Amino acid sequence: MTSAIAPQETTTPAIVVRARIFGESDKIVTFLTRDLGKLTGIAKGAKRSKRRFVNVLEPFTHVSLRVRQRQASDLAFISACELLDAPRSFTLDLRKFAFASYILELTDRMVRGREAGPETYDLVRDALALLDRSEAEPGLLRGFELHLLRLTGYEPALDRCRRCGGGLAANEGMYAQPARGGLLCGRCRGEGRSYVISRATLERLTTLQQASFDTADASAFALQPGVAAEARALLRSFFGATVTLPLVSERLLDEL
Ligand SMILES: [Zn+2]
Repeated sequence: MTSAIAPQETTTPAIVVRARIFGESDKIVTFLTRDLGKLTGIAKGAKRSKRRFVNVLEPFTHVSLRVRQRQASDLAFISACELLDAPRSFTLDLRKFAFASYILELTDRMVRGREAGPETYDLVRDALALLDRSEAEPGLLRGFELHLLRLTGYEPALDRCRRCGGGLAANEGMYAQPARGGLLCGRCRGEGRSYVISRATLERLTTLQQASFDTADASAFALQPGVAAEARALLRSFFGATVTLPLVSERLLDEL
């Protein structure tokens, strides 16, 4: 296609987050884009048109999106959408599908509109690509969660108390408060419900805060069984302070 792009149109790489049929023949699709943040648009005739939108408006798909934003509406107009890459393994492996669904749903819930920068797009694209070429390693989700918390402004301090700032002393544990998020030292934990987090888990999560998704496989994210359960509960408490849990995809993860 060599048609000239109208001035008000933007072309950006994007990942399809969710899509639904609208009316007789249209689709409403939410994307995480590199250049325009999270964006929802309408694809006119997408249900019928095999030529313009063939197989590109499905979740997890990586596309080149051409879109026209409208001043009076939050709903953009999707002019064209071309396939860049589609994960192959998610429809063949239910566990991978659940992991990928969780990545998209959590991102959707944490990110509001234009505030998502290109780093968030890069993170989601790279995490889905690593999952597609690797095993469904739970540590991959924990690494993703930690990166997403940082990019959305909720990065947890894993090495010091949220209240007094005191560091993790040699013989003193750190405590998680499920209702509040964040870690407290033994002096600050107070009367509220809290439980101790092992040093092994905190140290492993600290390394996952730095882990890159641009690796051959997910082995760099592997977790010991005890650490895996504790890490999931702790990360969940961080997100629970911001979004309503459980996510739909969490129920699927729990059933597997
Ligand atoms: Zn403290």
